[in-house]
Amino acid sequence: MCGIVGYIGSKQAAPLIVSGLKRLEYRGYDSAGICCIAPDGLTIAKKAGRVVDLERAVDLHTLEGTVGVGHTRWATHGVPSDENAHPHTDHSGTIALVHNGIIENYLTIKKKLANAGYTFKSDTDSEVLAVFIGMLYETLHDLELSVRTALAEVEGTFGIVVLSTHEPDVVIAARRGSPLILGIGNGEYLVASDASAVISHTRQVVYLQENEMAILRRDGFSTKTIENVDTRSVVEEIAFELAQIERGGFEHFMLKEIFEQPITFRDGFRGRLRVEDGTVRLGGLASVAEKLRQAKRIIITACGTSWHAGLVGEYLIESLARVPVEVEYASEFRYRNPIISPDDVVIAISQSGETADTLAAIREAKLKGATVIGMVNVVGSTIARETDAGVYLHAGPEIGVASTKAFTSQLCVLTQFALYLGRMRALSAEQGMAIAEELVNIPEHITRILDNVEPIKAIAKKYSGASNFLYLGRGVNFPAALEGALKLKEISYIHAEGYPAAEMKHGPIALIDENMPVVFIAPKDEIYDKVRSNIEEVRARNGRVIAIADEDDDRIADVATHVIRIPRTLPMLTPILASIPLQLLAYFIAVERGCNVDMPRNLAKSVTVE
Ligand code: GLU
Repeated sequence: MCGIVGYIGSKQAAPLIVSGLKRLEYRGYDSAGICCIAPDGLTIAKKAGRVVDLERAVDLHTLEGTVGVGHTRWATHGVPSDENAHPHTDHSGTIALVHNGIIENYLTIKKKLANAGYTFKSDTDSEVLAVFIGMLYETLHDLELSVRTALAEVEGTFGIVVLSTHEPDVVIAARRGSPLILGIGNGEYLVASDASAVISHTRQVVYLQENEMAILRRDGFSTKTIENVDTRSVVEEIAFELAQIERGGFEHFMLKEIFEQPITFRDGFRGRLRVEDGTVRLGGLASVAEKLRQAKRIIITACGTSWHAGLVGEYLIESLARVPVEVEYASEFRYRNPIISPDDVVIAISQSGETADTLAAIREAKLKGATVIGMVNVVGSTIARETDAGVYLHAGPEIGVASTKAFTSQLCVLTQFALYLGRMRALSAEQGMAIAEELVNIPEHITRILDNVEPIKAIAKKYSGASNFLYLGRGVNFPAALEGALKLKEISYIHAEGYPAAEMKHGPIALIDENMPVVFIAPKDEIYDKVRSNIEEVRARNGRVIAIADEDDDRIADVATHVIRIPRTLPMLTPILASIPLQLLAYFIAVERGCNVDMPRNLAKSVTVE
């Protein structure tokens, strides 16, 4: 959440920062701001709204200086307004700060500062930190020391970048809980929330570690802990290409990412799946293989879409590996003092690998002795580093705020994990081979769905005016229904709920009338007839049924108002295929309603606050 870009070098900082901010906007987009060190002091431009709104209001080329910092905000404290936008300055206007995260004890610090006569221009927690650093600077006369001293008193999470006219040739960055990376150039350095903002300048990066700070100058940089112990930083190469974070001719990133799924899904099993003996080679799990074989229980912890993937994972792992699985919201897991033993394996699923709730959950699990595995997309992310072992999703950068390709890649990885674990335990080679063979066919099946989006578009047009939607599925397709409903609410703002189809009669059926579209996931599996009965129940109450059904199901059209066809696959793999039309349905409805698909209101990618 929130995008930060800082620069020190020989080029003009403002244009470079603005282009970086645009790439980071998916992380937060309610306000934008930029500050440069000009010869006569700090120049700051900030505004509620998108980066383009800031550009419209201020000629950013007039911001002179080769040192600067910018921010796109995702408000936590104070409404999106010009005053609350970052950068914030101290009382003297000589120190500027941008912040990602939450200063949890900001009220205590603010009170102390107010008692000492300091005043504030914004409602943010971040400004309090800027003023605090400014106050400390008055006695310490050392920017780095002032930042460090202030941070020692801060509770909560932060990724910050600080600059000052007192020390115009230095940029200071520090992190706890919120990601920051350094871009290493030639005589120039960048600091940013993620690699997408630096890749057009350099591929060499350093991932700042938890509780680490960096001091950047034109002729070099150093890193140390916030407590002032020198640290060694490793320069790494960015693992993706610039083209992967561009729209490539698609109208939205979300659509591009939906269409990438045949490739991203294949990338998730390439080099891992061994069809010939029905197993999987997962190099990242080798160090914990024995733990996995002995595991008494698996706990999957995640948030949002990743949590839905976890629910599918529960079904897959329990049926293939016969190990009991619990799926927990990471935000709940952390605070309810969960019972965890060293025999447990905890799997954390997160696209960004920075999700604050999930990170907190794995720290809790580690503390209690569990083996912790990460399933994340972003290489080098905090969860990837803090887990004992892991499997990358290999979905490539996901920019659309509503997750699509990362979800199907999570299902790809979870299926393989279940297969891997199953083959270590009771699953026979024949059973394993059947699943592996079908997994290889999935990209082709996805392509077939993507080749025929017109019927989905037509349905979207018809129902784009609806105020509510129900999504129903059974067994492994229940989480797919939840995910379908989530996609729709995220990007179209239509209220939608997912339920196990049979639960409908215990409550939601009261909502059904001719204005209620009900999406059923109804593949021809062992509970097909039960689902058909549920469809009949909806029809009997005049509800409009949109059925996702197998392409060879010639009976479904008798009961459904609309049918969206998907290729026949193994029942346990249907959530993967069903999720493609559900993503497209949400997408086309949102476009029809004129919504900003890639940047839905109030949401942001990479949720780094609790
Ligand atoms: N807590 C800060 C604010 O509300 C930072 C939010 C962010 O990460 O964008 O301004």
